[in-house]
Amino acid sequence: MRVPATTLYAVGGGVALLFLLLLLRTLMSRRSFSRRVSALSARVGDPELGVEGRGMEANLGHLERLVDDTVTKAGEERLAVDRMQRALGALPQGVVICDEQAEIVFRNSSAVELLGEEPEPEVLQRLAALLAAAVEGRVEEVTLDIGDPPDRSLTLLSAPLDDTDRNLGGVVVVDDVSDRQRLDAVRRDFVANITHELKTPVGALGLLAETLATEDDPVVRHRLARRLQVEAGRVGQVMDGLLDLSRIESDENPVREPVMVHLIVAQAAERVRAAAQDKGITVNFGEPPQRLSVLGDRRQLVSAVYNVIDNAVKFSPPGSTVEVRARLDGELVELSVRDTGAGVHRADMERIFERFYRSDRSRSLSVPGTGLGLAIVRHVVGNHDGDIRVDSVEGKGSTFTLRLPAGPRGSQTA
Ligand code: ADP
Repeated sequence: MRVPATTLYAVGGGVALLFLLLLLRTLMSRRSFSRRVSALSARVGDPELGVEGRGMEANLGHLERLVDDTVTKAGEERLAVDRMQRALGALPQGVVICDEQAEIVFRNSSAVELLGEEPEPEVLQRLAALLAAAVEGRVEEVTLDIGDPPDRSLTLLSAPLDDTDRNLGGVVVVDDVSDRQRLDAVRRDFVANITHELKTPVGALGLLAETLATEDDPVVRHRLARRLQVEAGRVGQVMDGLLDLSRIESDENPVREPVMVHLIVAQAAERVRAAAQDKGITVNFGEPPQRLSVLGDRRQLVSAVYNVIDNAVKFSPPGSTVEVRARLDGELVELSVRDTGAGVHRADMERIFERFYRSDRSRSLSVPGTGLGLAIVRHVVGNHDGDIRVDSVEGKGSTFTLRLPAGPRGSQTA
């Protein structure tokens, strides 16, 4: 069969048109691809991308590399954020971050601990006000007393977060200043105590010396000299307390040699003999059947036991007895000092081991002291890996029990 030439021309023309259309579409889609890649390039800031005429393959290859880079960068950024969050989590200060609408977007664990998982309405209100201030570019600080009754003090400090042309929100840093405030109070107390403790005897020393200089009667002169000695002794005691404490504090690893308990008690009791005699108080050591020893530094141990017996004598009523007992409890020697005195007020119980802390009661009863005794005891016991316990009933008396590492046992007591 013969196909007419016109039909052949028509078919040929159709195929050619189809081919042209396909070519045009391919070219157009390539152009549109190039255009979209160029737009992408502008968005990611890569001038290399979407270069028309470079060919689809080259552009695709470049795009793939760019995606790889972006994925790697996103991973690194996630890591950096994670690292930053962990670093903030390790801070002892609380950190609360908000966005530019003052909405909280991050709290580290210290912030949750200090302010509470669900902060009190008043705390929340103050925090919100500070975050708003931070967003508005203000640095503000407030101190909040937390608890009922208040037992913690927090400072909250706001700071704006912005770069040169953008507001990124704000941050509030929370700091627990309770210990700092307590220490300041203790230091202030110390200065007041030490001044008071020294002022009285030093004033008396001056007066006594003045009187002595003009006194002719030998009996009166003798009495004045005796008073001078007593007052000088008081000054000496304050100095001894301070020296003892600073020495014991700097010697955290004292020698560990066996020291007989009865010798420690005897030396400590000897140091309080005069004060006990003045009040007609007996210090009674009920020795265990077998002599015990502790492992440690003799001077430190005597100093600790002296301070506990000295307190027992100071706070006991005249004519009473202070009982000292020692017993072995496994690897430890338990040394207890019991008095029938004023007892420790429950509110003072937590603080009596602080340096320079004296209860209002001791002041009102005019019991002499510097507030250093029990701080010395606590340090000595800590230096020897031991501990100290207090059992006290107000108005009935107290028992202070020191537990120290036992040394080898000695001879039978007589
Ligand atoms: P100081 O005796 O010099 O005041 P301490 O550190 O030895 O200082 O004691 C601190 C406080 O502990 C005393 O002021 C007192 O309130 C209380 N305290 C210590 N021992 C006793 C005790 N045996 N009985 C009653 N209170 C005591």
